[in-house]
Amino acid sequence: MSLRAYRYDGKSSRRSEVELAFGDDTLRVHGIDVDIVYPRAAFNLQPRVGNAVRVLDFTDGSRCEIFDVAAIDALQLEASSTRRIHRFENKLHYALIALLLSIAVLWAIVQYGVPAAARVAAFAMPVETEHMLGENLLEALDKLVFQPSTLSFERQQQLREQFTRVALRAERAGAIHFEFRNGKSIGANAFALPSGTIVFTDGLVAAAQHDEELIAVAAHEVGHVAQRHSLRHVLQDSITALVLITATGDIGSVSSFAAALPTILLQMKYSREFETEADDYAFNDLETAGIPTQRFADLMERLEKQTADKMSAPAFLSSHPATAERVKRFK
Ligand SMILES: [Zn+2]
Repeated sequence: MSLRAYRYDGKSSRRSEVELAFGDDTLRVHGIDVDIVYPRAAFNLQPRVGNAVRVLDFTDGSRCEIFDVAAIDALQLEASSTRRIHRFENKLHYALIALLLSIAVLWAIVQYGVPAAARVAAFAMPVETEHMLGENLLEALDKLVFQPSTLSFERQQQLREQFTRVALRAERAGAIHFEFRNGKSIGANAFALPSGTIVFTDGLVAAAQHDEELIAVAAHEVGHVAQRHSLRHVLQDSITALVLITATGDIGSVSSFAAALPTILLQMKYSREFETEADDYAFNDLETAGIPTQRFADLMERLEKQTADKMSAPAFLSSHPATAERVKRFK
């Protein structure tokens, strides 16, 4: 059995036309300036890629390119497993199934694996880690967003006392403290910073018709702190990026859009999960304290009416479990 091929001697870029004569366990490469008989161990056929030219590598550094793909296939120089792989590679629907499977596995890892891992990691990390994330954040916000609260010192202390009772029931009680600020454009709002500081805006305090409504919000925010949501959020984002880079192979192809899109999609899901967790926490805490959960629903409903025509709803309200759903629950 003989085939025509182009030979590169491995020393110069020149190619020459040769004839390959396959014997039992030998291969004779024969041309104008070459005539060598190689034992079977001295050459190796590169794996097939589609219908591209086939390449034989020789241990002496030379190489032959064979254009008659069918003929070299017929020689069955490869192990049967390699041929089987090629058959799989050559079937479009197998490739599609493999692609879909890969996407499904990746999705499952990012959707379920990453949050679970981030949760375990967050709770295993010392509280100081989260402090570091939030360090100086309040100072930055004070410079950029907030003005000092217009509430009297007495009123602040009165609320702080009530909120602290909520915090004392939480796991990270020592880290939690409450601040009041004039939020100006951000209106009625409350949020938990990674350091454990929970900020209430004057607007939110003004919107409440009963202190227990504010206590309910405090319980929700304490829920975020106790569940270590900010650290988990940062960890989830980082692990997701890592998983995507690992799966796709290089950072280059995970360009801004590809990298950002899943993270953006997940972020929405994550915050929804975190909001629900914080609601769970608040619900249980209010019941423990004997405060009607209805109070949270009252405030949410009132704020939703107030902000219906505005773009920005309060952080603890804006997002995702639909407010109506949440209100119903607390009722
Ligand atoms: Zn929240």
